[in-house]
Amino acid sequence: MIDIHSHILPFVDDGAADWAAALAMAQDAHQDGITAVIATPHHANGVYLNPASRINELVPELQERLQEAGIPVQVLAGQEIRVYGDLLADLERGELLTLAGTRYILLEMPSSRVPRNMEETCHELVIQGLIPVIAHPERNSEVADDPRKLEKLIDLGAVGQVTAQSLAGVFGSKLQKLSLDLCRRNLVHVIASDAHDSGHRPFGLSEAYRVVEKELGSATFDFFQQNSRNIVENGELIRAIYNGSRNLRQRMFGIFSRRG
Ligand code: FE
Repeated sequence: MIDIHSHILPFVDDGAADWAAALAMAQDAHQDGITAVIATPHHANGVYLNPASRINELVPELQERLQEAGIPVQVLAGQEIRVYGDLLADLERGELLTLAGTRYILLEMPSSRVPRNMEETCHELVIQGLIPVIAHPERNSEVADDPRKLEKLIDLGAVGQVTAQSLAGVFGSKLQKLSLDLCRRNLVHVIASDAHDSGHRPFGLSEAYRVVEKELGSATFDFFQQNSRNIVENGELIRAIYNGSRNLRQRMFGIFSRRG
């Protein structure tokens, strides 16, 4: 499996605290069946500033240490970029990183709202040939109240990344239900861990995929797995797995099974 969102890089944010913690996380990733992770430190979220140069310096060092330790996990450079006023200017200045050097760029919204400039930012990035990947939209309260706010961004060309632990039910059944609902609405296209440590916020991708296969079927399982690969290979993402009628059938089945 491939993980496109993780905080495995040490010393830069609220993820791995030091090299030992980063190595322990990589070992966990390996045990979970993950072969490649994109390190996506927080950038410009009001607490952490991690420009491209800092990340590009640390990623090869982590890779070297993993090789020395015999942990067969590839680490790629990325960034989790909070949507902020100077985002486009900083992109031009070379301070921002896309995911593994591809056209996919990981964007984070505050958890309480969809920023006013979100649509404009997505639109501008798409014009420049980039594809915004919206990090964990299921944890944004405006999206939770009205998924059409996410739908607007997807219609502009963005894609959605749901967090593995949300799908697995670790954050509660309400968030799990919302995550599955966003999948059925074709509003999320990739699953990632957003791992921060080996304890409370681990990789846990295999568990999320197990839930996906059980709740949404093997075609959806393949869809998500393929899309993670497509991102690191800079390929085209599959945008929709559910068509209208299937979606409706599933929803109706949901209603019947709740009644039953
Ligand atoms: Fe994150």
